Amino acid sequence: VLSDDVKRQKIVQKLARLQFSAATVRKIQDVFVSEMNKGIHQQPSSLQMENTYVPELLDGTEEGLYLALDLGGTNFRILLLELAHGTPIREKVKKYHISSDLRVGSGIRLFDYLAECVSDFVIAHGLQDVELPLGFTFSFPMIQHSLDIGILVTWTKTFNCLDVVNEDAVKLLREALDRRGDTKVKVMAILNDTTGTLVQGSTLDHDTAIGLILGTGSNACYLERADRVEHWETERHGEREVIIDIEWGAFGDNGVLDFIKTDYDRENDANSLIVNSFTFEKYISGKYLGEIVRVVLAKLTKEGLLFIGDHTPGSLLVPGNLTTDLISDIEQDSVDGGDSNTKEILMKFGIVPDEEDIKIVQYVCEVVSNRAALLVSICLAVLLKRIDKKNVTIAVDGSLYKHHPRLETWIKQYIPLLAPDHKFKMIHAEDGSGKGAALVAAIAQRLH
Ligand code: ADP
Repeated sequence: VLSDDVKRQKIVQKLARLQFSAATVRKIQDVFVSEMNKGIHQQPSSLQMENTYVPELLDGTEEGLYLALDLGGTNFRILLLELAHGTPIREKVKKYHISSDLRVGSGIRLFDYLAECVSDFVIAHGLQDVELPLGFTFSFPMIQHSLDIGILVTWTKTFNCLDVVNEDAVKLLREALDRRGDTKVKVMAILNDTTGTLVQGSTLDHDTAIGLILGTGSNACYLERADRVEHWETERHGEREVIIDIEWGAFGDNGVLDFIKTDYDRENDANSLIVNSFTFEKYISGKYLGEIVRVVLAKLTKEGLLFIGDHTPGSLLVPGNLTTDLISDIEQDSVDGGDSNTKEILMKFGIVPDEEDIKIVQYVCEVVSNRAALLVSICLAVLLKRIDKKNVTIAVDGSLYKHHPRLETWIKQYIPLLAPDHKFKMIHAEDGSGKGAALVAAIAQRLH
């Protein structure tokens, strides 16, 4: 039996590659800058740097009623937003259930159902004769040709209506609404949740120039100078800025980030639905942090460094069994200097941990969470330098950001070290994927 000291030393060594040296941090920074530049110049890159065609934010003149559809998050929702002076003053939301049958059947039927829900919602509010601009949050990979053309590249999550892949989601929605003909809804814009978060954040803080999602997945977008953007399929009208959707979940899919990949990450990847894709997301997002911790704990257990006095913790060895909300609970113990959450979680796995086990589990959660915070901070620092404005506010949404007890604190500590000359703030932009879409519809209506 190893002494605690020797054991600790071994564990620290085993986790060393999850902690970055200053040189590694610089290298990640350089690779991100280079991939962004390639992406924006339309050269091969793991970053798509998609033009969203949202050329400006709200200017305070937007008034009236706007609709939003939010498809691709946890629920399908319809929102009605009332704006006064470019600020939301009233909001109505309704969630609609989409049966699994509709999710994988004919795309036309799915869009007919979306249109049916829109009618139901609009008529219930007595607005069937009112012209209502609509923004469509469509959180699936798409290629945008303009603010209101979004070609579906592939379905993800629980959707798979094969007959409409490669079709324009706006056109499909408009045609379905026309088939009903019982409302005066006008589809003005299509966007993803990151763009919605930036725009929603800008109503809370005028310096908002970055939108960030840390939820099931992760992505960011930012306000780029229009003259730096090459991919622009519509006529330009002297735009000074435009929101660029980085699609950073895929950062490193081409191998440029392999120098940080550990065996734990390889196993996490192997256990995931689509291997060798969403490389960056697999280091940082809610869908994966718990699994990385689980892989590390399973390895330490097998090597006789953890849960020694106990029987094999069988259920902890099953992929997917340690979810990220549990990492938050364990991290809360570290913040409080306690151990009750950690103990309770391990007991649920049938483990009776000793004090040393608890410390090790907390240490692993800390190292894995901290790596995520540092990676996000490195990329945000690059964006702050690129935007180069006096003050920049980062609007964030997503359950991981909201509930993890340390990520925000760490990010706020790391960014000043990585971008010392740049002032920034972080704000929580609640429900960017809903409200943001209605706000983008209002911007589109004004520019129309
Ligand atoms: P979306 O699916 O639209 O990203 P959310 O922003 O709510 O929705 O993110 C859900 C994800 O957040 C879950 O997959 C889970 O991984 C993570 N999550 C949920 N609760 C917590 C929590 N308490 N701490 C950390 N992560 C959490």
